[in-house]
Amino acid sequence: MRVGRRRVASLAVLVSVFACTPSDMAATGGTGVAAASGALGPLHGPAYGSSRHGSPHQPRYQPGAPGIGDSDFPTDGNGGYDVAHYALDIRYTPSSKQLSGLATVQATATQGLSSFHLDLAGLRVGRVTVDGAAARFSHEGDELIVTPARPIDRGAAFTTAVTYSGTPRPERDPANLGTYGFIPTDDGAFVACQPNGAKTWFPGNDHPADKATFDFTITVPEGTTAVANGEQSAAPVTSGGSTTYRWRERHPMATYLATATIGKFELRQGTTPDGVPVVAAADPRFHASLGKLYTLSGEVTDYWSKVFGPYPFSSTGGVIDDYQAGYALETQTRPLYGGFSPQDAIVAHELAHQWFGDSLSISRWKDLWLNEGFATYAEWLWAEHKGGATADATFRAFHARPASDPIWSYPPGRARPNDLFDQSVYIRGGMTLHALRKAIGDETFFELLRTWTATHRYGNVTTDEFVALAERMSGKDLGPLFDAWLFEPRRPASPVT
Ligand SMILES: [Zn+2]
Repeated sequence: MRVGRRRVASLAVLVSVFACTPSDMAATGGTGVAAASGALGPLHGPAYGSSRHGSPHQPRYQPGAPGIGDSDFPTDGNGGYDVAHYALDIRYTPSSKQLSGLATVQATATQGLSSFHLDLAGLRVGRVTVDGAAARFSHEGDELIVTPARPIDRGAAFTTAVTYSGTPRPERDPANLGTYGFIPTDDGAFVACQPNGAKTWFPGNDHPADKATFDFTITVPEGTTAVANGEQSAAPVTSGGSTTYRWRERHPMATYLATATIGKFELRQGTTPDGVPVVAAADPRFHASLGKLYTLSGEVTDYWSKVFGPYPFSSTGGVIDDYQAGYALETQTRPLYGGFSPQDAIVAHELAHQWFGDSLSISRWKDLWLNEGFATYAEWLWAEHKGGATADATFRAFHARPASDPIWSYPPGRARPNDLFDQSVYIRGGMTLHALRKAIGDETFFELLRTWTATHRYGNVTTDEFVALAERMSGKDLGPLFDAWLFEPRRPASPVT
């Protein structure tokens, strides 16, 4: 994300349809850098399930864990394997809200697997095969548990195929995360899945710690358009009253960044001035905004490519749907704007996420400031670039907020699962970067950003890795600065300007 509800109220960037939701501001004590360090579990948890008492050896095959190891979201993602590729072949009928799909998931086992989980919510599973052989399965809550006919060796590549169908039900969490996932609309679907809504439309490893490439085959009624990530891998084919769209994202992508947004869309395609292909789409109600979306998205993509390093993907653009989501999401290569014509700051924000969040993805949701703080700081940089307020002036305006302001009691370096998108994660996260810039100087700061995006391109990152790189490149002990800005529940002193 998401430029969302509370944040909108503070920055007045969107329209007033989003009421400010009271947030749970039960302040916890500060979490120091030391406490935050080392709190990461292994990416793929320890072998899970039965153990042989008294044996010093692990059994050769064990069940994969039901979660990937993010203690704030314990059943998100799964353990025991690493997905390389999803091929999603779905058919969706807006009038009946019926979805049917065949998901083919190519993965590598990271342990010997007697069974494993996929995340899937609210849809009926028809058949599951593993490497072509029928597999047993059970569907318990949001966990699809697959027992292959033969156990899978550690290190082996295996392919799981799942047929499924039903009416997708988006996640609804009005107090915290809002409505997200596969959201049926009048003319199709708005598909925005942060943090864990991919499971509402396909079975997978629904956590950003496991990224994969995607092929999408989306069949919809003739006259309806399906827009997914990446580029169209074949021209649309219409037959028997249906049209099939094929899209391919050939760079690794977190599941929440996948989309198959469906509806009446007008498309505009071309390239940015620097040559990056652009796909912009708008619902007919936003016809007047399509030109600006196309041009601005290209301009922003080219500018960030100079500031943050080469654009990581093969195309850019955006989609304006008429569904009133009340937020935008940085869906990879193609941000979604839910029910509004985006202003410059939001386009700058969502396209900055292509580097910070999409190419470089967090391993644990608690590090969300690595996405939102950077994208927020990008808004300030864009305003300055366009002759508006300087980033320094924006920083000082926020720093002038009274000591009682909630952003000072919510340290942004540890995003809370019950208030994940708190404005502190955005604003104070962005302020952290400005304080860092003041401490290490412009030249080192912007070189740091480009080194950060180059070093971890298409990978996963942690706060500790960013702090370590900043210290290495600046030669300074930055522990106290990051501790004050990210982990202390009080307003830090203003840096010397
Ligand atoms: Zn964002």
